[in-house]
Amino acid sequence: MELLPNFSLLRPRSITEAVAARAGSGETRFLAGGTDLMPAMRRGLMQADTLIDLSDVAELRGITVDNKGVRIGAGTSIEQLATHPLLARDYPAIAQAALAIAGPTHRAVGTLGGNLCLDTRCRYYNQSEPWRTAINFCMKLSGDTCRVAPKSDRCYAAYSGDLAPTLMVHAAVADIAGPLGRRQVPLAEIFADDGIAYLTLAPGELLVAVSVPVASGWRSGYEKIRTRGAIDFPLVGVAVALRCADDGLHDLRIATTGSDSRPLLIAGLDELCALPLDDALMRVDKLLRKQIGPMETTLAPATYRRRVVPILVRRLVHRLMAG
Ligand SMILES: Cc1cc2nc3c(=O)[nH]c(=O)nc-3n(C[C@H](O)[C@H](O)[C@H](O)COP(=O)(O)OP(=O)(O)OC[C@H]3O[C@@H](n4cnc5c(N)ncnc54)[C@H](O)[C@@H]3O)c2cc1C
Ligand code: SF4
Repeated sequence: MELLPNFSLLRPRSITEAVAARAGSGETRFLAGGTDLMPAMRRGLMQADTLIDLSDVAELRGITVDNKGVRIGAGTSIEQLATHPLLARDYPAIAQAALAIAGPTHRAVGTLGGNLCLDTRCRYYNQSEPWRTAINFCMKLSGDTCRVAPKSDRCYAAYSGDLAPTLMVHAAVADIAGPLGRRQVPLAEIFADDGIAYLTLAPGELLVAVSVPVASGWRSGYEKIRTRGAIDFPLVGVAVALRCADDGLHDLRIATTGSDSRPLLIAGLDELCALPLDDALMRVDKLLRKQIGPMETTLAPATYRRRVVPILVRRLVHRLMAG
């Protein structure tokens, strides 16, 4: 049986205290709902001498709405995102993705921050220690070779959080606190295309909140393909946000998860909106083929994941345009 290793637990009550605790000695990690971190520590995938439990930091929790848009604290539960009436009405992709995360008990304790900062996944990595020992490990942890692409000098483990693409198509901005102060960046910029160093957050930085601007005129939706319909990570997930013109598309944004080591905002969509819808969608297929790069990191073949993304995009675009 895999046992949880010993660790110390700190309970800061403010963002300042949390950031200061992270700068303490030994290996420290933030703990939110623990639904990813705890199983990872039990499997030996992550280590920590000290966990900094964020659940007493009131400033991290809650959804606030004003005339600029919505601000969601990083400690807000996935369940709250799934059930918030304004999100369901104005930012439906976010609510749909939240409802599709894991099972009800995970959603009750899992948080926005934990979901965005989720470790990348691979079928050779998300395994027990004896399983990984039997294959002599891999480059992401304790080994020197990638089992997916043995000649590669990088890891292709896939980013598999459901919320990130939905926030990205709504032009979300991340609010980050760290030892050097506060900074705000487009959410897409906190992710790196690397299965090992998958976040650009500096050591000790804490994700505080995510803000999305007012979504007037935008329609959005999210769809994912997964092995077990009731509870599973996305093999791939697609978020679409669009605004309609009289006879077609006025604006289109697409982002994917599960396809690459980071959630991917598809580039080059602006000039397609002037085209008739069928032509625009054919060009979207080409852009997707060029930009997404699933590897054999899941039991479902990469070719399947590559082919299903354009189908999900078309399905969503037609659904959203129908109103
Ligand atoms: C059976 C099962 C099914 C799952 N299915 C899905 C799924 O379908 N889709 C999906 O997206 N996820 C899934 N998950 C993963 C996980 O449950 C969710 O992603 C959840 O939202 C993680 O949030 P958490 O608060 O529990 O994170 P934690 O486990 O507490 O933390 C995850 C990581 O984020 C870091 N972190 C947490 N908060 C912050 C912060 N504010 N700033 C900086 N770093 C932070 C932690 O240090 C840790 O490295 C599943 C997990 C399980 C066990
Ligand atoms: S992509 Fe390669 S290095 Fe990364 S986790 Fe999988 S096998 Fe390991």
